[in-house]
Amino acid sequence: GLPVCECNKCYHGSDCSRLLHDCPADVDSGDPLFLEAYWQQQAASSAVVVSGWHRMTYSTNGKDYISIELEKHIRILHQAVGNAVTDGKFIVFGSGSAQLINALVYALSPSNASSSPASVVASVPYYPFYKKQTNLFETREYGWGGTTATWANASVSSATNVIEFVTSPNNPDGLFKQPVLGTSAVIFDYAYYWPHYSPILDPADEDVMLFTNSKISGHAGSRFGWAVIKDEGVYERTAKYLSLNTMGVSRDTHLRVLKLIKVMIAEKGGEGDIFEFGYRTLKARWSKLHELVSSSSRFSLQQHSAQHCNYFRAIRDPSPGNAPSRANEEEDHTYAWLKCEWKEDEDCHEALRKGSIISRAGALFEADSRYTRLSLIKTQDDFDLLLKRMQPLVSQEATAS
Ligand code: PMP
Repeated sequence: GLPVCECNKCYHGSDCSRLLHDCPADVDSGDPLFLEAYWQQQAASSAVVVSGWHRMTYSTNGKDYISIELEKHIRILHQAVGNAVTDGKFIVFGSGSAQLINALVYALSPSNASSSPASVVASVPYYPFYKKQTNLFETREYGWGGTTATWANASVSSATNVIEFVTSPNNPDGLFKQPVLGTSAVIFDYAYYWPHYSPILDPADEDVMLFTNSKISGHAGSRFGWAVIKDEGVYERTAKYLSLNTMGVSRDTHLRVLKLIKVMIAEKGGEGDIFEFGYRTLKARWSKLHELVSSSSRFSLQQHSAQHCNYFRAIRDPSPGNAPSRANEEEDHTYAWLKCEWKEDEDCHEALRKGSIISRAGALFEADSRYTRLSLIKTQDDFDLLLKRMQPLVSQEATAS
């Protein structure tokens, strides 16, 4: 007989078209499955076959468990997109950028035992891993120092060891961010500084920059990220951490990511441009959600202003002075940072949960509970179900306000 396909968990029936009555829309995680449809179009060119005897060794051809070809292609990718300057800088690989969060904190902390420990900080709302990992791995050299707001009035001198995380565009609200404590060491997390999620302005040229393949190609399960580091000492301490921690990233993952990056570079500017695909998909989702949300007073969305994107400017219209805007109205982003406006919806995450929508509560980002995050980067089914569950919520009348 015909093979039976698996339906998304909320659908059933022979063609998976019947929605289970009370199945919730799950838009909690940032799993970038919207890119699955892209790779289905690149199925043959992106395939990797590895024989049993292949790549068995601990060694790589580059230093510090780096494959030279992969490092080279990462630099080419940044150059092609124009989002970061890598010339004259070192690159390290991590098992996801998640592994590099603590590796960089370690590397930027004082190695001198007589110095006071470094305080790791971030501005609200921030990606919770920074705090969670720092608390988990806390040592004599570093610990979580709280939010930047608590430091703003303290006198932070150059003698104070502070490591500030800056995520730009930010998870969860999508805004461009700058460091706020002038004297600190800064880790710029550029997970979302790619054309699917953000206009590309100038190439970032910071001393410590973090990237993840998870949000570029969508292969979050391959667990691959990298850091671009200016200072040799910081690079060496990061490499030492990675060597003692995991002896580098899986060589199978190197091979797979190299293939994916090669496809992304080869398809750039053409029909199969992944950034164009990603942008188009998210833009369409964003406009639908925006339209629905603005039809009522119950919710509001964090807005992002339209800006020229150098990436699309270059691939769509090479003639200067005649550059189209990346978008002419509202910008898209990875996540919708939703605010509940009604008095009775003080806990926005809970208000949505009652309407069968699983979101990520603002409190997890140390933000007000009136906020919650909706992931727009999951599958089309997940997104369609979100709209369906939102519909009745926006049409309800306020009761108490
Ligand atoms: N940084 C930010 C800002 C993120 O949102 C994420 C994933 N959601 C990561 C880092 C970690 O991603 P990964 O470990 O998959 O590279």
